[in-house]
Amino acid sequence: MEQCTSCNIEVTQDYTTFKCPKCGKAKIIRCNRCKSTSKPYKCPECNFIGP
Ligand SMILES: [Zn+2]
Ligand SMILES: [Zn+2]
Repeated sequence: MEQCTSCNIEVTQDYTTFKCPKCGKAKIIRCNRCKSTSKPYKCPECNFIGP
């Protein structure tokens, strides 16, 4: 089960995953709600914070 990186809810569908734009290692997962509200996320690998 995957969890949103921003709010930690479990995501099943309607979510986005991408690699951290800074380190390129961590997988960022954002639920649809955090995506639409542009909630910030924090990379677990390098602590990069970004929208
Ligand atoms: Zn979320
Ligand atoms: Zn990173």
